[in-house]
Amino acid sequence: MTRVVVIGGGFAGYCAALAARRAGADVTVVARAPGATALYAGGMEIVDDLDSILGTQPHHPFTRLGLDAVRIATELDTAIQAIHLALEKGGLKFEGGWKHRGLYADIHGLARPANLVPATVAGGELRALAGRRVAVVGVPQVGDYDAASTAQALKELHGIDAFAEDVSIPNLPMSASLTDLYGRRAPTLAKARAASVAYPPGFSNLPDDSFELLAAPPSPHGWRLQQVIGLGTVKAEIQGFDFESGRITAARAGDRAYRADAFVLAAGHHIGGGIRGGRKPEEPLLDLGVFHDGVLASTGGARLRHLEYLDPAAEMQSGLMTDKQLHPLNEVGAPPYANLYAAGAVLGGYDYAGACGFGVPLLTGWLAGTLAAKQ
Ligand SMILES: Cc1cc2nc3c(=O)[nH]c(=O)nc-3n(C[C@H](O)[C@H](O)[C@H](O)COP(=O)(O)OP(=O)(O)OC[C@H]3O[C@@H](n4cnc5c(N)ncnc54)[C@H](O)[C@@H]3O)c2cc1C
Repeated sequence: MTRVVVIGGGFAGYCAALAARRAGADVTVVARAPGATALYAGGMEIVDDLDSILGTQPHHPFTRLGLDAVRIATELDTAIQAIHLALEKGGLKFEGGWKHRGLYADIHGLARPANLVPATVAGGELRALAGRRVAVVGVPQVGDYDAASTAQALKELHGIDAFAEDVSIPNLPMSASLTDLYGRRAPTLAKARAASVAYPPGFSNLPDDSFELLAAPPSPHGWRLQQVIGLGTVKAEIQGFDFESGRITAARAGDRAYRADAFVLAAGHHIGGGIRGGRKPEEPLLDLGVFHDGVLASTGGARLRHLEYLDPAAEMQSGLMTDKQLHPLNEVGAPPYANLYAAGAVLGGYDYAGACGFGVPLLTGWLAGTLAAKQ
């Protein structure tokens, strides 16, 4: 049986592990801590316009796969179906698919697009709620959320007949925050005169005809997802590797060696720790090449080095580049290890906070796991 070690416990690592196990491999996931996945707002953006990406973004991880749109669509369908089943088995039901983008409100009433959402968020699709009467649950002791202004935003921005209704929650600390609501049973509203009820995120046991708003970090949605995908993960920090004839033979954490036939690097971007920021962004574990717009970041001139201060969103597009088999490239553009694959936010060439925020971790994770299992 092929042994696969996945480095990274975020969504990319989860998808890689799922795919590799499905392909019959014996998989170990090693992660030192939660990364960006634990901070997501509650709606996964997978892809907006696939044809446009493949036609106009040569360095996008999807384009670099060298697959046509039909094949990518098929892989997305297969991966998402398996992920829905696996997450539900873990106790977290999701809804949606990559072809449909809904709009969901965050705790301030602002709309965010998403393709896949937890079932507890799905009922809050804004276009479906237009013209309907929606109660927004307020908790007066909580300082970082104001149901009245959320209701006003839902009304003014999205045409929803929204109003705020306060509930009383026992034993909340003085100056409570949204995190103090996490895991508490959802209170029911005294005056049930709405078609639907919007809850701030974090409550459990939501009543029928209600939904959760999207979160700001720290995110209950992210924490729930992280807990489910982290089941069975080994907690350790990979610090180095053993090599033999152009192949990696083991990943090392302290005096422990995780031996395998193939390795998936899903170590995230700055938050996860897969890319170290600074004047010259680096990949800290294997000294792989970090590229920006197809150019080696270390040779990109002074402006590229200052991008972090000028335009953080653009700077987040710096990352690893891969060949068609998802082998990461070194500084001269060659894949140095035949049995190493890279996936997720450690890759560059796409807008990390944009329309493929979870699409890249999902698809590259899924394909990297599948390829690794074939080693
Ligand atoms: C604040 C915030 C909000 C976001 N909201 C959204 C959203 O609403 N919708 C959306 O589509 N996208 C969103 N994104 C983007 C999305 O969350 C990320 O693209 C995605 O979670 C990245 O997943 P990943 O698995 O590649 O990386 P991560 O989740 O960062 O995981 C990286 C993992 O690698 C581990 N690791 C790193 N180095 C080592 C090592 N040496 N040894 C062991 N383990 C290691 C880390 O501990 C971590 O477990 C958001 C991002 C942020 C930062």
